[in-house]
Amino acid sequence: MNVAKQLYQLQETDLEIESKEQAIKQIASQLGENQAVVRVQTKLTLENQHLEELKQQQHSAEWEIDDRVGKLTTGEEELYSGRIKNPKELTNLQHEVEGLRAKRNQLEDKALEIMDKVELTEANVASIGNELKTVEAEWHRQQQQLSAEMEDLKNRLSDLGQKRQSLLAEIDPQAVELYHKLRRQKGRAVAKVEQGICGSCRISLPITDLQRTRSGNLVQCSSCGRILFQA
Ligand SMILES: [Zn+2]
Repeated sequence: MNVAKQLYQLQETDLEIESKEQAIKQIASQLGENQAVVRVQTKLTLENQHLEELKQQQHSAEWEIDDRVGKLTTGEEELYSGRIKNPKELTNLQHEVEGLRAKRNQLEDKALEIMDKVELTEANVASIGNELKTVEAEWHRQQQQLSAEMEDLKNRLSDLGQKRQSLLAEIDPQAVELYHKLRRQKGRAVAKVEQGICGSCRISLPITDLQRTRSGNLVQCSSCGRILFQA
């Protein structure tokens, strides 16, 4: 096998190694990343706190109603007992009872309002709970998929590493040195010749260079300096 072809294969291997390493980095940054789940968990916590506050409001409203109803019952009993004969006292008590009734009605309206909010919030908590289950399931599925992809990439990378080693063992060390120098300088060290043109810098190559390349000699492009490879 001519040296240009060997170096071209080495380059193909190195480029694939680079792209696999990039993909592994990308996946590593996604593994364990659970922002979407945390976002819904936070939403659920806040909604539960809201529900707790509303339930406390509901309790104190009910307690307040019981208190008023107790006073109202006492007042009404007193009013209809016939024990109070003094008209002024009777009128005063009547006003007091009316006031207590109005207050009780007002508190009951407020309690109903709170109850509506409690129901609405309970429904929200349930729906966010379902959303969380969905998001968590999706997250687990994604993580499993990413782990599997990672596993494949690592296996592939290990194969490529072995391939690289065996290629290096076969290639003339001086050629390898030139290859590494050009890789550092230009990214790609080997250029494919396509219809007499350097595949990297697009210059038309002299006939002699083409002939020498075809015979398996190590020839560098006179313009970009890359090693020429003719398939
Ligand atoms: Zn060139």
